[in-house]
Amino acid sequence: MLKIGILNLQGAFNKHRKILNQIGVENIYVNKASQLKFCSGLIIPGGESTTLSNLIEKEKLFKSLKDFSKKFPIFGTCAGLILMAKNNNDNLIKSLDLIDIEVSRNAYGRQVDSFIKNIDINIEKKIISTSAIFIRAPIINKVGKNVKVLSVLRGKPILVEQGNHFASTFHPELTDDKSIHEYFVSKVRKFSFE
Ligand code: GLN
Repeated sequence: MLKIGILNLQGAFNKHRKILNQIGVENIYVNKASQLKFCSGLIIPGGESTTLSNLIEKEKLFKSLKDFSKKFPIFGTCAGLILMAKNNNDNLIKSLDLIDIEVSRNAYGRQVDSFIKNIDINIEKKIISTSAIFIRAPIINKVGKNVKVLSVLRGKPILVEQGNHFASTFHPELTDDKSIHEYFVSKVRKFSFE
């Protein structure tokens, strides 16, 4: 049975769990390296990327996450995307370097500048219209040639994919639309049976 891990060191992990439960996907919280062996995919939630990075170090999870990423798909939202980005603008964050993008933290402004926007996403040759919630979101300034951009807002990528890894600058776990989680689960499923 396919099981997806949700990193629950800090941040919006319970909202991801709620969506996975709603779409009937088994999931477990992960805060120790030993729990990764039960998972075929992992979600890194939004939260505070510096805190997440510190906790990953404190729990000695960095190498295990890197090893896991070589075998299984990872999906990051907001702070999760910052951790997955090859380059970020904060030297307190140790990058997992999973997606060849360059990001600036908090680039839309402070908490009060958070916003909701209708967006189109392009997954598996289908255009899906949905709404996206941006909370102190990062901006992706640069994208490497192996990165697919699946959605754009004001000329900047907001949903990107590289190989098995996938990340959004917004929070799909905070809306009712489950298509982004369903897409991630389909990637995990495909990958597990390849
Ligand atoms: N601003 C946070 C950071 O830089 C990310 C916010 C979020 O995950 N909603 O880590």
